[in-house]
Amino acid sequence: MGDFMGKKIAILGSTGSIGTQSLDVARKHKFEVCSLVAHSNIDLLEQQIREFRPKTAAVFSEDAGKILKQRVADTDTKVTFGAEAVVELAAETEADTVINAIVGIAGLKPTLAAINAKKDIALANKETLVTGGELVKKAVKENGVKLLPVDSEHSAIFQCLQGVPEGALKGILLTASGGPFFGKTCEELKSVKPADALKHPNWDMGAKITIDSATLMNKGLEVIEAVHLFDVKPKDITVVVHRQSIIHSAVELVDGGVIAQLGAPDMRLPIQYALTYPERFECPCPDLDIFKVGTFTFERPDIETFTCLGSCIKAINDGGLKPTAVNGANEAAVRLFLDGKIGFLDIGEIVARALEAQCVVDTFTVDDIFAADKAARELAYDFAAKL
Ligand code: NDP
Ligand code: MG
Repeated sequence: MGDFMGKKIAILGSTGSIGTQSLDVARKHKFEVCSLVAHSNIDLLEQQIREFRPKTAAVFSEDAGKILKQRVADTDTKVTFGAEAVVELAAETEADTVINAIVGIAGLKPTLAAINAKKDIALANKETLVTGGELVKKAVKENGVKLLPVDSEHSAIFQCLQGVPEGALKGILLTASGGPFFGKTCEELKSVKPADALKHPNWDMGAKITIDSATLMNKGLEVIEAVHLFDVKPKDITVVVHRQSIIHSAVELVDGGVIAQLGAPDMRLPIQYALTYPERFECPCPDLDIFKVGTFTFERPDIETFTCLGSCIKAINDGGLKPTAVNGANEAAVRLFLDGKIGFLDIGEIVARALEAQCVVDTFTVDDIFAADKAARELAYDFAAKL
């Protein structure tokens, strides 16, 4: 494993889908896991602490954190808790690379703290870039750290761009599975339940991103993420529904060439690449059996029905705090939908209203981002209260 054995990593969101798969990669390559963070799943976090013996661990929930601290008092792991503790851990961890696999805007401050402490970032938390893209990029530049994408599409684009000279990128083909409701009409979508939306055809992921995949909000967030990561204009990104989820995205070059990255739908490859870049090693994920896949299909997304995608594209074109507004509204709306308080199509309606309600600004701070996020969430709660 060359220079990478013993690589020092921290995982924020270690108990989630990306977090546990990051630990698979860490286990395989004997990385040193310096720090772990979760929200409240202390049963799993305790197991992880006992297996990986990190120096520090933080729990967002104070109540859960207090219990965990007692439970692992026999280990050498120092446990802290609360929102501030998560941000402090991100800055103070001994790790060189912080994997951010927290879900939602809650990931933004820890990302900024880690960058300002000169840590490289392996970023799964797309909401970090959607809400704080400009600020994050500035901090990355000032601190001379690496920001490596974990999101499968963005990892694919990043992989395709290796060896492509500057100025040769013309556009991006951002692939989408289409989610569980591809081909359905608005009429059919009116009555879908959370359990239907939680059944993703190809990927096993956390609840929030699974709902985002069903509404195509996830693809909208990914367009915004790609604009920030690859310095392209929204108009240069084409969303392609590719039901098989084997082509993880492609780049279009000025000479007409198109380079794609393929693989089994398994996040451990993009996670590992973000940790070992530019090197490549065996990965704990299945090989692609291309004959089993047999056929590739490519279709246009239905933006009339799945309105979140269009709202995100409008948000990034308008810029400022609009992306934060659509993201915050969506985070609240997804929670309300999972709790049975609103219908599936209401998510798109809430996101569209938040986009409308947010005014255009040129410059903003982290505090402005959180104020815009709060306003968008309140709009979502008001909408649900009036149903
Ligand atoms: P999960 O819901 O499975 O996991 C989220 C993790 O974050 C859990 O460990 C959770 O802890 C922790 N967490 C949640 N809120 C906080 C908080 N406020 N402070 C500290 N920790 C917190 O999500 P996923 O792994 O699916 O997704 C994580 C991120 O990666 C998202 O931004 C998602 O969009 C992105 N992503 C995910 C992909 C996937 O395949 N899953 C693919 C591409 C991107 P606890 O368990 O205690 O609740
Ligand atoms: Mg993705």
